[in-house]
Amino acid sequence: MLIGFVAPALAQDYRVPLADDDVQYGYPTAYKDHGGVDWACGDVRYDGHQGTDIGIGGWAGMDAGRTIVAAASGVVIETLDGEADRCDTGDCGTNGYGNHVVLQHADGKTTIYGHMKLDTVAVALGQVVRCGDALGEVGSSGHSTGPHVHFGVWDPEAAGYVDPFWGDCSGEPSYWVDQGDYNGLPGTTCDVPPTCEPVATLKCGDHVERGATDAGTTATHAYYGACSEWAEYTGDETAFTVLPDRDGLVHIAMSGHTADLDLFAVQSDACDATDCLAAFTEGDMAAEALAIDGRQDEPFVVVIDGFRGAASGFVLDVTCDSEAPDTADSPADSANGNGGPGGCGCDASGTGGWMLGLTALALGRRSSGLYGSVRAAADSRRSSKVRRSASSKRSNTSTLVRAGGRPAAEDTFSPTSTRP
Ligand SMILES: [Zn+2]
Repeated sequence: MLIGFVAPALAQDYRVPLADDDVQYGYPTAYKDHGGVDWACGDVRYDGHQGTDIGIGGWAGMDAGRTIVAAASGVVIETLDGEADRCDTGDCGTNGYGNHVVLQHADGKTTIYGHMKLDTVAVALGQVVRCGDALGEVGSSGHSTGPHVHFGVWDPEAAGYVDPFWGDCSGEPSYWVDQGDYNGLPGTTCDVPPTCEPVATLKCGDHVERGATDAGTTATHAYYGACSEWAEYTGDETAFTVLPDRDGLVHIAMSGHTADLDLFAVQSDACDATDCLAAFTEGDMAAEALAIDGRQDEPFVVVIDGFRGAASGFVLDVTCDSEAPDTADSPADSANGNGGPGGCGCDASGTGGWMLGLTALALGRRSSGLYGSVRAAADSRRSSKVRRSASSKRSNTSTLVRAGGRPAAEDTFSPTSTRP
């Protein structure tokens, strides 16, 4: 039996979850509890605390407005707003975290930002956020005794909250870009994601067969979602540069895989959240295919992603149409009734129905309406994949919106800050 090689996913490190202008007001009030000590073997913690609490100057600071930001790029998988925000008893509201946001990161971890001020949650379910983007304002909602942000890091591999701080009593690597000093705050620098590092350049007509253990394994724990939820590249996937030798549709077809591999086309090997051109993320072993409106000598990148650690060999075929349909003045447009200027003009019968309507798909155009049938198909399939990866914890309450697999919120509590 072939044992697949599973490479560890690259972690995404964090910046301090306070806006650059507000860091000056921040200070830790409680770290994660490690059985009676904090990460540095001190006592800035309380029993059972599962995150890092950061105070911002008490009620005056809250009223002045202190902005919570994303510690790393990711996708919003849960929000709650509508909870009263001046709790001083440690036991308010319907949810321990009060008004909060949960982000899913490409390395599989999630981060939670708790106790936000009422009506300040600034992001929506499914939204892609970049490191440093505003999520809301610091408040004292939920199980809180004073204004602070509770920052928690959930690691599905550990099936629990982990401490982002490295220290003699944490037993964890540091997940901060710059964790700073004890009783100080981590730095404001965002992590820089890796580039795709394509393993080969493919041209029209190329046929590639890859094994599961070839260089550039497809194994990863990254979560991409569809193009609309593209979070960030974390490495380990197999990437190819595709360099068309003519203008026209470039067909990328993947087959032969025996695990859940997904197919992405991205504009460059930066592979960041602004980069996705098309995605095909069906959660089975069926062949996957994309069509990109290529331009001669303008490369793009194809990424083969193993969904949640899946690894498999695969076959990739690159075929190119001879010429892009001329939508402005081709006689074919009026002759075949495909709509004249702006119409398709293409013959889908010879190349498979999946490419219908894709002639408007162009490098550099990212409006959702331009992705045509492949985009729509990928999006609908993605929803079933999310359900598969999650434990279906969508709440019936009017304001809690949850899509991820994280357990229900634990109670959290912060002692009243003794600092200004
Ligand atoms: Zn806390």
